[in-house]
Amino acid sequence: MIATDAIEGLKARLDIVDVVGNYVELRKAGTNFKGVCPFHDEKTPSFVVSPHKQIYHCFGCGAGGDSIKFIMEHDKLNYPEAIEKLAAQYNYTLTYTQGSHQKTDTKIIDTLNLWYQSLLEQHPQAKAYLQERGIYSSSIERFGIGYAPGSKETLSYLQSNLFNMNDAIALGVVGKGENNLYARFIERITFPIYATNGTTVGFGGRTISGHSAKYVNSPQSKLFNKSRLLYAYHQARDAIYKKKEIIVTEGYLDVIMLHQAGFDTAVATLGTALTSEHLPLLRKGDPRIIMAYDGDNAGISAALKAAKLLSSAGFDGGVVIFSQGRDPADMVKNAHIEELNTLFRSAQPFIEFTLQHILQQYRLSNPKEKEQAMHEGVGYLKTLSPLLQEEYKSYLASQLGLSPSLLKMHSQAPSPSYTATTTYGDAWERSLIKTAVEHPEYLNIIVDSLSSSLLQHHAHELELVLQGNLNDPAVMSILMDERNPPFHDAAHLHDNLIFFLRNHYEKMLKKVKFQHELSLDRKSFLIRSYRHKIEKLKRGELIPYEGHL
Ligand SMILES: [Zn+2]
Repeated sequence: MIATDAIEGLKARLDIVDVVGNYVELRKAGTNFKGVCPFHDEKTPSFVVSPHKQIYHCFGCGAGGDSIKFIMEHDKLNYPEAIEKLAAQYNYTLTYTQGSHQKTDTKIIDTLNLWYQSLLEQHPQAKAYLQERGIYSSSIERFGIGYAPGSKETLSYLQSNLFNMNDAIALGVVGKGENNLYARFIERITFPIYATNGTTVGFGGRTISGHSAKYVNSPQSKLFNKSRLLYAYHQARDAIYKKKEIIVTEGYLDVIMLHQAGFDTAVATLGTALTSEHLPLLRKGDPRIIMAYDGDNAGISAALKAAKLLSSAGFDGGVVIFSQGRDPADMVKNAHIEELNTLFRSAQPFIEFTLQHILQQYRLSNPKEKEQAMHEGVGYLKTLSPLLQEEYKSYLASQLGLSPSLLKMHSQAPSPSYTATTTYGDAWERSLIKTAVEHPEYLNIIVDSLSSSLLQHHAHELELVLQGNLNDPAVMSILMDERNPPFHDAAHLHDNLIFFLRNHYEKMLKKVKFQHELSLDRKSFLIRSYRHKIEKLKRGELIPYEGHL
């Protein structure tokens, strides 16, 4: 088992904004951060992270908890697995109580990486390939390029170093067939893939023995999620922050060659399209994004998807298409640096690029198709902020040769989870619950003057607070909602309680008058009691709650 003090030590190091920020794009909203919930499908952010309380909460689906809970839920891990994952991510060494199972030995992958690098020297064919592509030896070193030999050699290397084969399988460097083990990378040039903190998490491999798969990547593993990582981000990070720019390409060689030519903000997706899972990483340092894609059909459709995704998510930047079979790597090799510079500087802004490619799919000379083009264009614009919608409405209209007034824009409806809860009574009860949590010194006043059963919307939550269940998702939801502040002092609470209770007893009084099934005695007793309470409340006196009369 993981030692308790090790868990506590790790917890003290974790910052929820950073932990969640690796998965969810977070933006500052008051004292909290807000993003789109990873646990349910939503367009408008209702997922809130509180750095102060070190918890997250989703107003849409009710998910909530601390950093460890987040990793458990998000990555479907159990408690110790989540802790091990976080410890690996934050370079924290866990200690274990004696005799228990040890964590996966991530040293395997670092050791293999160094071994692959040392093998490159002894492999002239691999070296010749790199040289032919124009890669300097300084780049080989900087990017840790290596060579993976045959399967048997890799397996015996791991065995002779006494590594645990199950760990090697878990890390994706060894695969398991029906009745044998095999190395994942066989006779390939290896490009180590680092996590943002610089630890090796996987490899990309390019064949030099004519294997049908030109490139392969490590499989998804505990450490390696290719739709969240970007190749060479670790090497490019400082430049990205400094230059406020990031160039996203499609290939390892493009990245290495671009860095060689001084474009040191270049990174690459890992053989996948750009997905929303990449956005948190791209958001870091708030850079302008240049997507560099091949000019073939696959490249253009990938660029279109990326441009839509990035513009809808509010990113600034543009697209560069390398037409006529050119690619960044070859352009650097052929010393076309100035041309590259010009290309990157004149990237076509995402929104223009998207609209242009949407319209290109239609024959605009045909009115019916023109109408469809307009609908698709407007549909896309609606994913943007109201200001950008307005800006690009006339651009789209002019491209279609239509009057802007024909383009019907409706801004997005706000998230239902945020609008459904805005009645006065609801807001008041939320403020009351917040007061009870944030000012426990007022709890007595609250408990004395009312019962949770008097609340119409949040009786359950008040009950939870009274029981001390502050970590219940329902309570957290109220605590993290910034719209309903707590009552600011005892006098404010007092006035609010008077107002609420007067309302309540006046309602009860009206109700009792129509309760024909009550005996006359009972009825007059209730009427007297309610009137008495209302009188006192009118005088500003808080009366003790007497339960059901
Ligand atoms: Zn949610």
